[in-house]
Amino acid sequence: MKSRVFFIPASRADGAEVLAEKARAVLRATGFTASLSPTDFTALKIHFGEKGNTGHIKPEWLTGVVAEIRDSAPRLFLTDSNTLYVGSRSNSIEHIRLAWDHGFRPDVLDVPVIIADGLIGNDVREAKGDAEHVASGKLASAILGADALVALSHVTGHVQTGLGAAIKNMGMGCASRAGKLDQHSVAHPRVLAKACRDCGLCYDHCAASALTRVEGRAAIDNARCTGCGECLVVCKHGAIKVRWDGDVRRIQEKLAEYAQLVRRHFGPRLACLNFLLQISKDCDCMAKAQPAIVEDIGICGSLDPVAVDRATVDLILERTGGRDPFRKGYDADWSFQLEHGEKIGLGSNVYQRIDLA
Ligand code: SF4
Ligand code: SF4
Repeated sequence: MKSRVFFIPASRADGAEVLAEKARAVLRATGFTASLSPTDFTALKIHFGEKGNTGHIKPEWLTGVVAEIRDSAPRLFLTDSNTLYVGSRSNSIEHIRLAWDHGFRPDVLDVPVIIADGLIGNDVREAKGDAEHVASGKLASAILGADALVALSHVTGHVQTGLGAAIKNMGMGCASRAGKLDQHSVAHPRVLAKACRDCGLCYDHCAASALTRVEGRAAIDNARCTGCGECLVVCKHGAIKVRWDGDVRRIQEKLAEYAQLVRRHFGPRLACLNFLLQISKDCDCMAKAQPAIVEDIGICGSLDPVAVDRATVDLILERTGGRDPFRKGYDADWSFQLEHGEKIGLGSNVYQRIDLA
């Protein structure tokens, strides 16, 4: 049977109240709430937007979604995980403050914010994988502590994954820092010797004792390093760097495998809502206002992460007459995550689109 994707046309010009009702209508159509029990913890997985970013989903657009879920299961929380890079979202204190600054406060949306991988991103739970790349996924603890999940995704382009939507929100966004490092890199971090001030902070912090002083500079013993990624944000001098993987296919395949671990944990208690509004070239990690590269299209939702992302791309291509705005931004083929996602059972590229009035 084809997966069902529900779509409602929408634009930022509708205003917050109408957008909130439209998002609620899409979620209701998926039938997600029928799977909930009153004692369930429901995680609303979102990206709060980096400081200065304006494209992220706005809290006012979610009041209807929250009301819809709360009728069935009142224990809701908004969540994201800390970033791999140093910035305004690399620890829970600054991350929550940024969420407040972007309006995710009780006076706007009465839902607590919990950063899923804890104070400094080391609250990790392992999930066993059986696909090609990920034998053991390192997921953010509060994600696996929840009973149900709604992936609320702002659709964007991305320099490595080509597309940032439901699969990326689940795969990368639900991973701990170690899980993000696992997906972005094929090797351990490296020390930029000329930037190292030999302050000693990382020597004390590394739980694996993999960071030591060698000739007055930090050095990583790869045999000991567990890839937790903590030193990347512990170093205040930017001397520890990710060895980024340049293979966009491999990154996207890992992304899909992480998303599949999340899907497997939640089973039918998973819904995905993609917001095709202010679609930008780069993701919401960009600390700036980004112009839309396509006019606003609407909101689509499904219980199937692959189907909702495939429908998202199809809607965009339909609107642009076949011109792919993501390939114009970066020549990163986004299709690997969708193809691999289907291969490993994350979802289906074949879907039925049901348009809501
Ligand atoms: S924390 Fe940074 S500057 Fe300090 S010793 Fe480690 S790598 Fe060098
Ligand atoms: S990634 Fe973790 S284990 Fe490896 S050197 Fe950094 S802190 Fe130590």
